[in-house]
Amino acid sequence: SLVQANNAGVSPVIRKKLMGYVGFANLPNQVHRKSVRKGFQFTAMVVGESGLGKSTLINTLFNTPLYPPKEPLPPSAERPKTVAIESIGADIEENGVRLHLTVVDTPGFGDFVNNDDSWRPIVENIESRFDSYLEQENRVNRLKIVDNRVHACLYFIQPTGHSLKQIDIEFMRRLHTRVNLIPVIAKADTMTDEEIADFKARILADIAHHKIHIFEAPTYENEDEETLAEAEEIASKIPFAIVGSDKVVETADGREVRGRSYPWGVIEVDNEDHCDFVKLRQMLVRTYMEELREHTNDVLYENWRTEKLLSMGVAQDSTVFREINPAARMQEERILHEAKLAKMEAEMKMVFQQKVQEKESKLKQSEEELYARHREMKEALDKQRGDLEDKKRKIESGRPLTPEKGTNPKIAASFAKFPRPQC
Ligand code: GDP
Repeated sequence: SLVQANNAGVSPVIRKKLMGYVGFANLPNQVHRKSVRKGFQFTAMVVGESGLGKSTLINTLFNTPLYPPKEPLPPSAERPKTVAIESIGADIEENGVRLHLTVVDTPGFGDFVNNDDSWRPIVENIESRFDSYLEQENRVNRLKIVDNRVHACLYFIQPTGHSLKQIDIEFMRRLHTRVNLIPVIAKADTMTDEEIADFKARILADIAHHKIHIFEAPTYENEDEETLAEAEEIASKIPFAIVGSDKVVETADGREVRGRSYPWGVIEVDNEDHCDFVKLRQMLVRTYMEELREHTNDVLYENWRTEKLLSMGVAQDSTVFREINPAARMQEERILHEAKLAKMEAEMKMVFQQKVQEKESKLKQSEEELYARHREMKEALDKQRGDLEDKKRKIESGRPLTPEKGTNPKIAASFAKFPRPQC
């Protein structure tokens, strides 16, 4: 065995070679089975001015008409004056895997004369979802936690070809610490490839300049080349230039595809040469859905929770002294840390108990099976013994074993060596 100190130089890690199959290599399958049984919850938010194709894209992504076609508002209709938050939930299933999908739409965003505060109701909504999660976590029965937190936010950028607008920057700046931001260029079919490339470069420069953090596909050490290449390929397309369509159209060569038909040809949604839709879907659904959920839970939610609890602690104590007192602050941080540890411990205990129970019932079952086998074998042996005894009895009482007259003298001699037993 090899003793290694970890990075922090504490608690040595002991590496041992296993002498036989223990079984935890099967853990991924166990986790997989359990998650498939329970199903997944995923919440995606779409933000952007109306008419940028948000509903169409969601329908295209999940291949389901989640959003019914929108009726344009009649001119006389009273237009709402604030950003609304609307969510639609759907249970969808693919190859036996259930996904409870919630899409949060934010109609009204960017649609007013003054859009200065458009981001505010959205931040409030995201935080209230964190609040509800925290409240559930603090309950005694934490088994049935419903995770309504927003796991990804698709931000639709108008295909202007210029650079980001003030409202885009403001929104992303306010939201990037609360949600996984995925910027997309809406209706990319209205721009040429060259325009898209330039626009992307300008958007990325703006994002970097304002130190906005957008979601990046994580890469891990020891990752295989294929996965790394895939992550790089996806990253290279951000912000995704997308085209949405939930209609099937016919191409010039007679194929039926999801796309948009123009006098000069068809733009295919699922064709990587035409737009980045496939890569966006890969990021959001096929490859990184779990990472988006994890990052929401481990980083965004945890940071929000710490900030909230700290601010509550500080607010409770009105003395300025405490606010600037590092000892009090450390004490608070310690309490938070301990609470987190306690939570983790409780979770681990629960998992451990579950595993022990499973193991016990399995052991019991195999014990019963062993008994049954033992019984069967014993019965078979008893029967065999009975049969043999029967045969023996028959031989002893039946045919004479001495040779008849006229038989081969050699055989007679060999029989003579084995005298007939006396009964
Ligand atoms: P929302 O208000 O953002 O939800 O936008 P909708 O999804 O209702 O789309 C508004 C209009 O834009 C509809 O007529 C769509 O057919 C059209 N549309 C949606 N996606 C695209 C796209 O990628 N390209 C083009 N050219 N039009 C689109």
